[in-house]
Amino acid sequence: MNKGDESSSAGLLYLIATPIGNLADLSLRAKETLEACDLIACEDTRVTAKLLAHIGAKVPTTSYREENERRKAPELADRIERGEKIGLVSDAGFPAISDPGFRLVRECRRRKLPVVPVPGPNAAITALAVSGLPTDKFLYLGFLPNKSAGRCKVLEQWKGFAGSLIIYESKYRVEKALADMEKVLGPDRNLCIAREITKIHETFNIGKISDLKTSFAEKSGKGEFVLVVGPEGYVL
Ligand code: SAM
Repeated sequence: MNKGDESSSAGLLYLIATPIGNLADLSLRAKETLEACDLIACEDTRVTAKLLAHIGAKVPTTSYREENERRKAPELADRIERGEKIGLVSDAGFPAISDPGFRLVRECRRRKLPVVPVPGPNAAITALAVSGLPTDKFLYLGFLPNKSAGRCKVLEQWKGFAGSLIIYESKYRVEKALADMEKVLGPDRNLCIAREITKIHETFNIGKISDLKTSFAEKSGKGEFVLVVGPEGYVL
C-alpha cells in the first residue's frame, strides 16, 4: 500500500493534481483517491463536478478558493483533526501552485496533520521539460504583475539568473509580456511559448524573443500559455 493510502481512521489532507487539459491525464491513483475522500475542497465546484462525473464518483464538495481561503483553511483543518479525509483539487494542475492551497497545507503542517501528495500534471514543469531550454536549473516566477512597470521590474531582477525562467501568462497579456521581455532581456534570448498543453490546439513555439513576438502578434493568441525563457547566451 502506498504512503498515505492506508485505511487508518486518522484524518489527512490529500493534495490531488488534476489534468491541465486532457482528462486522460488523471492518474489511476488520483481517481481512486478522489473516490475515497470524505470531502473534496475545490476551487470551482462546477469544474470539479464535471471531473467527478467523468470518473463516476459521488463525493461531497466544498468551495475553497482565493476569496475564502483564510476562513476555510482552519475550518477544513478542524475537520481533518476530527478524522476526515479531505482531498484538495484546483480547476487544473497541481493545487497550491499558482492556485489555492498554500494556506490549508500550512495550517495542516502547523497542526502536524498529514499532507499526502497525489502528484500529476503541472503546466510549468511540462512546458520546461519539452522546451529544449535548460532543465537543470530553473526559476518559477508564476504570474508576472499586470502592469508593464511591475513586469519589467521582476524581469530586471531575474535577468541574470543562470537557468531557465518559467512564467505563467494570461492570453490577454502575452503580447505585452513579450514586448517587455524583449525590452528587458533583449531580443536574442531563447524562448518557448507553450500554448494549450495537452489540448487540441497544443503548440510549442521555440525561438528568439524578437521572432516569436512578431509571429505571435500576427496570429490570434487564444488559450493558456506558459513562457519559458533560456539564460543569457544559451544557444539552442
Ligand atoms: N495549478 C496549475 C498548474 O499546476 O499548472 C496552474 C494554475 S494557474 C491559475 C493557470 C495558468 O497555468 C494559466 O494561465 C497558464 O499560464 C498555465 N496553464 C494551465 N494549464 C495550461 C495549459 N494546458 N497550457 C498552457 N498553460 C497552462
